[in-house]
Amino acid sequence: MAARGAPYLDDLNPAQREAVEALDGPVLMLAGAGTGKTKALTTRIGHLLLTGKCRTNEILGVTFTNKAAREMKTRIGRLMGEAVEGMPWLGTFHSVNAKLLRRHAELVGLKSSFTILDTDDQLRLLKQLLVANNIDDKRWPARMLAGIIDNWKNRAWTPEKVPAGEASAFDRRGVELYAQYQARLRDLNAVDFGDLLLHMLTIFQEHEDVLAQYQRWFRYILVDEYQDTNVAQYLWLRLLAQSHKNICCVGDDDQSIYGWRGAEVGNILRFEKDFPGAKVIRLEQNYRSTPHILAAASGLITANKGRLGKTLWTDAEEGEKVRLIGHWDGEEEARWIGEEIEAMQGGTRGLAPMSLDHMAILVRASHQMRAFEDRFLTIGLNYRVIGGPRFYERMEIRDAMAYFRLAVSQEDDLAFERIVNTPKRGLGDKAVQTIQRAAREHGLSLVEGARLCVDEGRLSGKGLKELRTLVQGLDRWHGQVISEADTHVELAEMILDESGYTAMWQNDKTPEAPGRLENLKELVKALEEFENLQGFLEHIALIMDNESEEQGEKVTLMTLHAAKGLEFPAVFLPGWEDGLFPSQRSMDESGLKGLEEERRLAYVGITRAEKLCTISFAGNRRVYGQWQSALPSRFIDELPQEHIEVLTPPGLYGGGFGAAAPSAGPSAVQERAMRADVYNSPGWKRMQSRQQRPVSQPAEARNMTIDLEATSSFTTGERVFHKKFGYGAITAIEGDKLEIAFDKAGVKNVVSRFVVAADL
Ligand code: ATP
Ligand code: MG
Repeated sequence: MAARGAPYLDDLNPAQREAVEALDGPVLMLAGAGTGKTKALTTRIGHLLLTGKCRTNEILGVTFTNKAAREMKTRIGRLMGEAVEGMPWLGTFHSVNAKLLRRHAELVGLKSSFTILDTDDQLRLLKQLLVANNIDDKRWPARMLAGIIDNWKNRAWTPEKVPAGEASAFDRRGVELYAQYQARLRDLNAVDFGDLLLHMLTIFQEHEDVLAQYQRWFRYILVDEYQDTNVAQYLWLRLLAQSHKNICCVGDDDQSIYGWRGAEVGNILRFEKDFPGAKVIRLEQNYRSTPHILAAASGLITANKGRLGKTLWTDAEEGEKVRLIGHWDGEEEARWIGEEIEAMQGGTRGLAPMSLDHMAILVRASHQMRAFEDRFLTIGLNYRVIGGPRFYERMEIRDAMAYFRLAVSQEDDLAFERIVNTPKRGLGDKAVQTIQRAAREHGLSLVEGARLCVDEGRLSGKGLKELRTLVQGLDRWHGQVISEADTHVELAEMILDESGYTAMWQNDKTPEAPGRLENLKELVKALEEFENLQGFLEHIALIMDNESEEQGEKVTLMTLHAAKGLEFPAVFLPGWEDGLFPSQRSMDESGLKGLEEERRLAYVGITRAEKLCTISFAGNRRVYGQWQSALPSRFIDELPQEHIEVLTPPGLYGGGFGAAAPSAGPSAVQERAMRADVYNSPGWKRMQSRQQRPVSQPAEARNMTIDLEATSSFTTGERVFHKKFGYGAITAIEGDKLEIAFDKAGVKNVVSRFVVAADL
């Protein structure tokens, strides 16, 4: 074969090479982190193509994220010395199935133009169903129902297939609601994420010809991160691979972190049963991390029971031990990490200077991110957040900030322009031009110009009235900033309230609205850390400054879950505290399942690091606006001491224990000292009584009850036509506002006069 002896094969160790060259028949590659599973998988795809075994469109490759799929394509391209054309079927379970379902939608009663609902849409629909069924949303929150339904879908259970025993938890009512929900989705020509795969599975099971077509089509199947597949995904894979059995799965049972979403590690064990004679390949050499990092991770994970177990070794240079450091609170932790990063970037830590691109902070919960964002913005450290926009760049945050800026200074014309008609006050472009003219004529700020327009009646009707209200509001808020009558936090809440800004989002029915309201709350919380509004605004001004700068190196900030499969030379793992990591929920649970999953997540975290891994915890942390004390994570105890170096930050614990310089290892005494301090801290009792930390309530942004006294002449369910969005059916009516599920454009809110009744 032409590719024999190809240079890309020389880059592999014998076990990897075996996995790459065993092209036909089932292969299971089961190996620990950083052993080159993904590398082998990618090389295997390249090898398939280069040896002419198949064409790009005959390979079905499933990765965990779209990012991973893209990266794989790039790597394959590099391997082949050219850009790979196509690879149309290399993607996530979601993306591949969405594509398939578009081709066969009619087999499950959908049109190929079906809409894919996101989680918020899904919740909205479920809420409507609960209302229609007279079920109190407080007793059975829509979110809970959504969780149950997702879970059933993950197990490949359509409403008919939910076993009686399972359904009893929900009085059998749950199954009814599930069936109604599916019917409703079908009416709307919509699917949720879980449906993408479930519908295809149904199609494969009920239409042999379709299945046979794809069995022929996808001649080689490859799956990365196999340990996180759920039952439905497993069945789907098994069906597709059944005839030729050319399936190669790679995974690591120790990195299974999606059990809460229905993933089943057991799929790994079933593989050999379902594909007898499967070649099982174990990789043991880790190419990513230094021995200390590897040993720390391996030591930690041994605390889990029921592992398949594996040996990992590396011939990398010894490097530094995993560093452990405790901080007084979360802000201090963020400050210290910021300084460390700067030092590493400058090469002042005795190491070669390191690019920011090579550093990552991996958090357990996304609310941990804001402290880092705040700190980095303050010190001007560039960062990127993977999996969401940066906090202060969000629209609602910028709007709210514009109000705050005006409260502090009425000279802020940009802020005024931003909010004058947000929320809508009927002050459109013309009104703004009038205000601007008035301001220019007299050399005034826009607020002053607006006041003039009000006094001289330069606007008319509603516009005048609204502008007067706005100016009065601005004056009142400004007065309060000066008099300091209220705390700035209270004032901020008042401003958002009185301006109608909060209400604007409460009345908004788009899926994003609840999230925006949550962010506004988080913004108000952020204020608590500052003395007054001015101080806060100064801090934010730094951010707005930074923002234009898109290029350059950046530190990565992301959750541990999102970091799966990735690697960075330096990794920071903050927030190792009981109740945060492991999560309170996993600790409260009876049994060890949740806790073991958290431990695997910790293992994933440590094994992302190549050269430097730093674990930290804080004795006190503000969670959802409240101070809470916490103990260092139990996982810290489980780290093998000989691979850990305890650092003592200057000034901590009143001068701290041990030497100011890094000591040789955490002595038991040091450990106890750290803990004793936390035990004595005032918040400890509160922490103890915090058995059930209130789960953040789903943002009840919208009142989804259907208004029976609607003033519009439409009725729910009626088909309508909208000039821009096309045909759709009304799903809810509130006053003159209609919520419509459009056939093509998805669910939208429109004012009734913009639609006409459609004759079906
Ligand atoms: P994870 O379990 O975290 O997903 P993985 O097993 O998929 O890890 P890879 O990401 O494929 O591991 O590889 C880890 C690192 O080791 C990568 O930087 C990769 O390039 C390198 N690597 C893998 N195999 C070899 C090899 N045979 N020789 C040199 N480097 C290798
Ligand atoms: Mg991998």
